[in-house]
Amino acid sequence: MAKKKFKAESKRLLDLMINSIYTHREIFLREIISNASDAVDKLCYRALTDQSVGMGRSDFAVTITRDPENRLLTVSDNGVGMTEAELEENLGVIAKSGSLDFKKNIPESDVKEGEALPVDIIGQFGVGFYSAFMVSDKVTVVTKAYGAQKAYKWESEGADGYTVTECEKETVGTDVVMHIKPDAEEEDYSRFLDEYTIVNLVKKYSDYIRYPIKMDRERSVRKEESPDDKPEYEKITEIETLNSMVPIWQRSKSELTEEDLNGFYRDKFDDFEPPVRAIHVDAEGAVSYRALLYIPAKASYDYYTKEYKKGLQLYSSGVLIMERCEDLVPEHFRFVRGVADSPDLSLNISREMLQHDRQLRVIASNIERKIRNELLKLQKDDREGYEKFFAQFGAQLKYGVPGDYGANKDTLKDLLIFSSSDSDKMTTLAEYRARMKEDQKDIYYATGDSVALIKALPQAERLLEKGYEILYFTHEVDEFVANTLREYDEKPFKSVNRDELGLDSEEEKEAAKKQEEESRPLLDFVKETLGERVREVKISRKLRSRPVCLSAGEALSFEMEKYLSAVQPDMGAKADRILELNAEHPVFEKLGKLRESDPEKAGRYAKILYHQAELMAGLAVEEPGEYSELIFSLM
Ligand code: ADP
Repeated sequence: MAKKKFKAESKRLLDLMINSIYTHREIFLREIISNASDAVDKLCYRALTDQSVGMGRSDFAVTITRDPENRLLTVSDNGVGMTEAELEENLGVIAKSGSLDFKKNIPESDVKEGEALPVDIIGQFGVGFYSAFMVSDKVTVVTKAYGAQKAYKWESEGADGYTVTECEKETVGTDVVMHIKPDAEEEDYSRFLDEYTIVNLVKKYSDYIRYPIKMDRERSVRKEESPDDKPEYEKITEIETLNSMVPIWQRSKSELTEEDLNGFYRDKFDDFEPPVRAIHVDAEGAVSYRALLYIPAKASYDYYTKEYKKGLQLYSSGVLIMERCEDLVPEHFRFVRGVADSPDLSLNISREMLQHDRQLRVIASNIERKIRNELLKLQKDDREGYEKFFAQFGAQLKYGVPGDYGANKDTLKDLLIFSSSDSDKMTTLAEYRARMKEDQKDIYYATGDSVALIKALPQAERLLEKGYEILYFTHEVDEFVANTLREYDEKPFKSVNRDELGLDSEEEKEAAKKQEEESRPLLDFVKETLGERVREVKISRKLRSRPVCLSAGEALSFEMEKYLSAVQPDMGAKADRILELNAEHPVFEKLGKLRESDPEKAGRYAKILYHQAELMAGLAVEEPGEYSELIFSLM
């Protein structure tokens, strides 16, 4: 009998599939089982309204038969089956849903005759029926359509064509018989005939298929009549359902143990560290959905790289629609892993349509709220656990505050924790706020590369002396967070590096003004000596034990200057520098006297003081040559 040819492009694709050095050959079983389940769906649906089908929900099943001796693996279903015309139409062309996507999405340049397909491409799109050829050198499909008298057999050994002949088949449905390839260097094909491999593959890929997937399994049982002291065993074969059918997230909360939830996470997301939290959502309302969300204990190795993709697996009633639906988790919670399932979503929805889907947006905002609440709960109930979580993903939350023009700041502000001068523990903004002194107007923060450096800041002294708490900002984004929030519970953020801290009473201000006038000649002298390097030289009102400090003007802070010059060196971002002198310090008096007796030396001292101030502010000395010379001359 003459072989029929596959359509041209189908042939080429099939060729590629057969020859591809593809490491995920095992997905063929998922594809074949999913087709079987679809066919069962169709007949089952019909049976609901049409009495004459004569079958009930529980009669439908998919059956796997192994025949290692003859190297045959068969997937049978009692679904709608195919007519002769459908066989031709469906299996003669690769132009059906999954395969169509597949074709569209591979650039021509990627498809070269006889070469392997890029691995992820096959993994990304369902490759459908033809994937059977990744493990078989011949595939036979025997099928009888519902309502038809005759049965047909489709057979193919690969790219050179297929035959369709009439055959005998009693029952309605389809058998896909795969003639498994002999073992080869690149693959141990025999494993696809092995009982345990099949069981595991079904569990892995087809566990939530809504119909039972059955297979004969061998078990050894004790012979009943065998004596207790000398038990004898025999092998029996029993048909067993391999899939759980009900996805874990469809089960009720009370039924699930922590072990169930964590085990699912481990298997699904390949993370052997148990998650910090598992969130089980069962939402009913305008949009019903169920979800299992996980907060991982550790950032994966690629988490802070472009390789990492956020998103949840999206199902509609247990059928996977999208492997990674990005729109379901906001950027600031991108570390969350999990699945969402809503019967309200249409199965045939495309990626583009999903983005505009109202129901999906409702689910997404709901999920965001759930995650936030869970994190707040963790923060309250298990602070140590929360600090660990924050060490992993806190930066993500912080970047979320200035991100998107601050749109998410209110969602995130209470999730943030910072080190502070209060204790070794980290503090939330609410806790800081609650500890604020009655007369304290601002939330003070100090920036620096480390807590140790910040503690050495001269500016902090006066604040600490007054009993005011200072937040320690050691992360590059911290100050952007403060600038975006502006205030917390009506208290504005204020940097201790700023020149005006607003701490003084009226009397203190008066006294300072007087002192400033008296010291005018010295201040002018220092300003003249330093020139453009500083915007202003003034008497400090925050210093205690140290003679000088440098503070920034109102516009840019030192931290931002450092950050901006790192990311955009050409911009020349520079904070205004204000040199503050401590009039109570012996150095001040000495400098004043020296100005009169030896102005040259006084000038050199002024410069040294300026460079010291630069260092204490955590800045690089701008003229290291000059600085070294000055120190040498001093010695
Ligand atoms: P897809 O499943 O993405 O449409 P496939 O290449 O897997 O693409 O299958 C092509 C078509 O063949 C299916 O759409 C279906 O109509 C038909 N088909 C495959 N397997 C079966 C089966 N077991 N029973 C009935 N029809 C089937």
